[in-house]
Amino acid sequence: MPQKDIAAMERAINRIEQAISERYTQLGKELLDLAETNQQVIDQLLDELIHLRKELADNQGERSCQRCSAFNRSDSRFCTRCGYELEGGVYETTH
Ligand SMILES: [Zn+2]
Repeated sequence: MPQKDIAAMERAINRIEQAISERYTQLGKELLDLAETNQQVIDQLLDELIHLRKELADNQGERSCQRCSAFNRSDSRFCTRCGYELEGGVYETTH
């Protein structure tokens, strides 16, 4: 194979490798943008969800756990999720 053909093939290989590398870079940027945008939307939705759950719990006389934020019935003495002693309940506190 003549020498110039080898040089041309090497240039072609370099071009293709460069093109692949640029695609990966572009893809990485787009994924980061997409992830960031979605994270912001998810954060907003989660804020809204937490707010609504708190409001619902308040309306139903429930209290959230001081330790894990789980909602418990107003007559519960301990958190049903983590077992933490709930404060401000209808029971008599022992401390
Ligand atoms: Zn808890």
